[in-house]
Amino acid sequence: MGKGSKDKRDLYYRKAKELGYRARSAFKLLQLNEEFHFLDDLEKVVDLCAAPGSWSQVLSRTMFEESKNPENNENKKIIAVDLQPMSPIDNVTTLQADITHPRTLARILELFGNEKADFVCSDGAPDVTGLHDLDEYVQQQLIMSALQLTTCILKPQGTFVAKIFRGRDIDMLYSQLGYLFDRVVCAKPRSSRGTSLEAFIVCLGYNPPANWEPELDMNKSVEEFFQGCYKSMSKLSIEDKLIDWHDEERTVAPFMSCGGLNSIDSDATYHIEPSNNPQQARQSLDPVQSPTNPPYKKALELKRSGKLTRAV
Ligand code: SAM
Repeated sequence: MGKGSKDKRDLYYRKAKELGYRARSAFKLLQLNEEFHFLDDLEKVVDLCAAPGSWSQVLSRTMFEESKNPENNENKKIIAVDLQPMSPIDNVTTLQADITHPRTLARILELFGNEKADFVCSDGAPDVTGLHDLDEYVQQQLIMSALQLTTCILKPQGTFVAKIFRGRDIDMLYSQLGYLFDRVVCAKPRSSRGTSLEAFIVCLGYNPPANWEPELDMNKSVEEFFQGCYKSMSKLSIEDKLIDWHDEERTVAPFMSCGGLNSIDSDATYHIEPSNNPQQARQSLDPVQSPTNPPYKKALELKRSGKLTRAV
């Protein structure tokens, strides 16, 4: 399918290009924020798994360009982390790093001058293999790594927003989050395809156990890290709870659809025919930012130099 036809088929894809966003995901964060207003009055923000950078663009625009308190701009900082290199974005410090590696936390804290963040978001998605169980497991591990890093960097009462896939064991995650945050909601923005299992957890009011000092240790697994948290609670530890967990006791996070019924439906096909300029409707738009180092780059170079030929 050509990009012109995708422009028509997916209005968020087209609108992202019109508004200068690098990816259509920008609308997911914007629509979540319409409902929860978590982007008001932020100072220190971490965008995990940020490439190509449309969430960081949203953060930069709301915190700086459209800020209601520009006099505070010099105290504000956005750090965007991804395995992939990212092209620069105004007011954003980019870090090419693995969020599952403990050194990444140290680098973020260093950039914040050891201050903590008000807001951490993660739109992380690993490369899919097509093996469903493996993909689900790796995605779950990525969310847990993002949460682990968040517990070490988020201020009390801060917000954590992360992409999830509503698989079989998702209520286990909701329970764990319920121990760390005052309110946990599973939200589905209109720009996220209804046909996909993708949703976002919006965790408000970070409120960890008072006597727990989260600390990343290279020699501890994510599970061991969180055991430390549950054990420090005076309540029955989650570990004990999970042993005799009955289905009816499983936590169900409230589910909320956001983005308003009038916004574009991401599963519908639209025909763009603006009455004032029908010609413009047929033009496809160039990407806002070409990928910096895509995995297919080498193949393209070989193809252009005629070296990508198969021996007959
Ligand atoms: N929110 C981004 C935006 O709006 O442009 C899109 C994020 S994209 C869906 C998912 C990203 O997760 C990819 O860029 C990928 O490189 C990143 N990622 C996956 N595993 C990671 C890891 N362990 N550490 C850092 N980034 C990771």
